[in-house]
Amino acid sequence: MCPEAFHPANELRIGHYSETAPDEVSHLYDYGWAAFENWHTLPLQKRLTYLRLLRETIVESQDEIASIISKSTGKPEVDALVTEVFAVVDAIKHIEKEAPSILNNEKVKTPLQFQGKTSYINRKPRGTILVISPWNYPFQLGMISTLEAIAMGNTVILKPSEMTPMVGELLKRLSGIFPDHVLQVVIGGKELGEALVEEGPDYIHFTGSVEVGKVIQMAAAKQLIPTTLELGGKDAMIVRNDANITRAAKAAVWGAFSNSGQICLSVERVYVHEQAYPGFITEVRREVAKLKQDLSSEADMGTMTTKAQKQVVAHQLRDALNKNATLEYGESPDHWNENDSFISPLVLTNVTHDMAIMQEETFGPVMPIHTFENDQEAVDLANDTDYGLGGSIFTSDLERANEMIAKLETGNVMINDVIKSVANPHLPYGGVKQSGIGKSRGRTGMQAFCIETSVMSDAGKADTEFNYFPNTGKYHLLKQMISAYWGPKKDYKKLVSTFLELNKRTK
Ligand code: NAD
Repeated sequence: MCPEAFHPANELRIGHYSETAPDEVSHLYDYGWAAFENWHTLPLQKRLTYLRLLRETIVESQDEIASIISKSTGKPEVDALVTEVFAVVDAIKHIEKEAPSILNNEKVKTPLQFQGKTSYINRKPRGTILVISPWNYPFQLGMISTLEAIAMGNTVILKPSEMTPMVGELLKRLSGIFPDHVLQVVIGGKELGEALVEEGPDYIHFTGSVEVGKVIQMAAAKQLIPTTLELGGKDAMIVRNDANITRAAKAAVWGAFSNSGQICLSVERVYVHEQAYPGFITEVRREVAKLKQDLSSEADMGTMTTKAQKQVVAHQLRDALNKNATLEYGESPDHWNENDSFISPLVLTNVTHDMAIMQEETFGPVMPIHTFENDQEAVDLANDTDYGLGGSIFTSDLERANEMIAKLETGNVMINDVIKSVANPHLPYGGVKQSGIGKSRGRTGMQAFCIETSVMSDAGKADTEFNYFPNTGKYHLLKQMISAYWGPKKDYKKLVSTFLELNKRTK
């Protein structure tokens, strides 16, 4: 009997799914490696026809896909359409365009001392890749990296989150577009994930929590499996007093409450210049009051995806309120309805950095606001976290913004906007500090799924090279050559004559 999946808000049954047992894992890799033999030898353009077909299928089925995502996560269908369906089809378009230039040998310069040689980077697929993804964007976070890997010629085992199994079933269905075992989608939780890592994939791309990311990195280290880890965040938004305050308030509200705050790049902390604070808080209150939260397709906010995450938010909020934070907007957890997964938007002031809400990832619809006196204080507060995923600066002084970016310890920053940089496939995406290792998406993402072989090539006509044995009589000539080119004054004549003399001595 297959287990059933339920809507997070009303617990209505939304379908049933089949789980993959951990003891099936070794067969999955056998299939994956066998399929790799054919798949990676297909011409790239042939591989891309499958991606194109997938893109067209997704576009044709966008209503159904948005509905499955919405019912699985509690997010409104508008959000599902833009941040999941659109994100995937746009990423496929980018892959179709960029993949050829990545897989062609990339010519690089060759320094003077290697005269007569050419250099380039050759890229080829790694083999069978393991992609593990979370529940907050269950469609796009698994799909985009998977498709980048597949386009490069790899086969993929994708384990989406067990929290959104109907999206897993959808991904399984879509995997049928590819030849057998090029994409194997498996459904299961921690034990299945552990077994998949243990079996020794050729690369692991993990998106999820810091805690699980570290477990995976330790297991991967035992076999020296290369990884990309995309982990949690505690992003700060800095609002200087020269910012467009109306825009900053609207951006803060969207950035903190979109997907009920369950975005790795959510605005989790807001630092506002003390002079801008009164205007900012007034605008934030006005914007939050306009938000429509329900289960309709065009609501601004839906529900939390899991009850467990609702508890995390309640815990952090109680800690903040016990430490004298002020609830400017929203209801304290004591008044929440325990029977559903909704949390209405919450705005907190009088927050301090000894509160969990300013240190730990909240992953819920909470906007804590803190003031600052000067730019240095704002940067210090923003950096006062173990995380380093993203952040934003609102100001009309772009030069000043860039000076602040130079001091911010994060992998991604937006100026006068929030979150959206992740959707630009031309920008590498990834965190620093506890927010992850490596970069993904776009060209960088595709390159990570390739073995890069650095090649230096010589026509091979000359019998010897100046550095080959014997060494006798070369010391002073080598010294002369180093001084002629790498010293304070370049002497090309000396360089050439020394080089010719060295060649003569090697004959
Ligand atoms: P999670 O770490 O609990 O789970 C992520 C995935 O790992 C799931 O598929 C889960 O089944 C699997 N897993 C759990 N234990 C495992 C183990 N021991 N071995 C192998 N796999 C295992 O994360 P979550 O709760 O699903 O997602 C929320 C987290 O993801 C948040 O911290 C959020 O910030 C982060 N996230 C990061 C990004 C990013 O791009 N940096 C994007 C989205 C979400």
